[in-house]
Amino acid sequence: MTQEIKQPLIKILICDDDPADRKLVRTYLQQITGREIVLLEAGHTEEIQNALDKGRIDLVLMDNQMPGKSGMEWLAEIAKKQLAPVVMLTGSGTEEIVAQAFQEGAIGYLPKGSLSLEKLKNIIDVALDKWTRLQQAMADKEKLEKLATFDSLTGLYNRRAILGKLRELINLANRYKEDCSLSMLDIDHFKKVNDRYGHLTGDAVLEEIATLIRQNIRDTDIVGRYGGEEFIIVLPKTVLSSSWVVAERLRTIIEKAEMKDSAGNAFTITVSQGLAGWERGEDAYSLISRADEALYKAKEKGRNRVQIMLGPSLRDKI
Ligand code: GH3
Ligand code: MG
Ligand code: MG
Repeated sequence: MTQEIKQPLIKILICDDDPADRKLVRTYLQQITGREIVLLEAGHTEEIQNALDKGRIDLVLMDNQMPGKSGMEWLAEIAKKQLAPVVMLTGSGTEEIVAQAFQEGAIGYLPKGSLSLEKLKNIIDVALDKWTRLQQAMADKEKLEKLATFDSLTGLYNRRAILGKLRELINLANRYKEDCSLSMLDIDHFKKVNDRYGHLTGDAVLEEIATLIRQNIRDTDIVGRYGGEEFIIVLPKTVLSSSWVVAERLRTIIEKAEMKDSAGNAFTITVSQGLAGWERGEDAYSLISRADEALYKAKEKGRNRVQIMLGPSLRDKI
C-alpha cells in the first residue's frame, strides 16, 4: 500500500469583490486533493483587513480590481509587511499589470479568464515553494548580518562594529557639540586564568565580564569586544570626569564578582582601564590610541586601576 505524504494544512484567503468570481475560485479549490485547505473569503477592505489581522495566512489570492483599496495596493502592503505570499488574479491581464504586480512583490499571477483546477493547483505549489525560499533567504541574510556585527562569544559588538559605532558617535558629537568618552578595558593576567583553569573557563569569564559591563552602564552607552580580552566602552554625552566614575564602578564590581571554574571553585579577577575624553576634531583612531596609552600606564602601575590620558587641549592647561 502506498502511503500518501500528508501536506500541512494551508489557509488561503480569497479577496474579490465579485461573489461569482469568489465562488468560481472556491469551487476549484474545493476540488484539490492531497492537501488540506482552509478557505477564507473577503469581499471588501474591512473584511480583508479583518482576515489579515486574525492570524497566519499561507496564501492570498488577490483580485486586482476592487473598489476602495485596490488589489495592487493590498499586494504592496502585504508584501512589504511580509505577511503572506500573494498571487494576483487579473481580470483583464495586461502586461503592465502583471509587471507591476511582480514589482510590488507578487509571487505569481493568474488570469481569471482562463482559470482551471490544474493552474490553481500549480500556482499554489509554486507560490508556497517560492515563499519558503524567500523566508529562508531572509533568515540567512539576518543571520549573516548578525555574525558580521556581533561577537559570537559575548554577544557584544565585534571589533568592526564597535569602531563603526564610535565613528558614528564622534560625527554626532562633532555636529551637536557634545562630549564623549571612551574606556579601553583589559582583563588582568588573563593568560594565567586560561593556564590555571582552562580555556573554557576563560571563555566563561569573558562572557561574565561582558554581562557585568552591560549591566552596569547605561542603555545609551555602547560596548564592544575589541580583541581577545579587551573591551571598548563608549560613553556618549559624557565628560571625562563622569566616565571616571563609571570606570571605577565597573572596576570594583568586577573585582568583587565571583567567578567559577568547571569544578565549581570560586576565584576573582581584576581589570585595568584606560580612559580618554574625546576632543573636538579628534578622530576615532586618535581617541582609541590615547585610551590604549592610558591602559598601558594602568598595567604598568600594577593593574586593577583606571588611568587617564588627557588630550592636547587639556594637557596644555595643566
Ligand atoms: P595583562 O594583565 O598584561 O593584560 O596580561 P594578560 O595575560 O591578560 O594579557 P596577554 O595579552 O598576555 O594575554 C591575553 C590572553 O587572552 C592570551 C589569550 O590566550 C587569551 N584570550 C584571547 N582571546 C580569548 C578567548 O576568546 N578565550 C579565551 N579563553 N582566552 C582568550
Ligand atoms: Mg589582559
Ligand atoms: Mg590584552
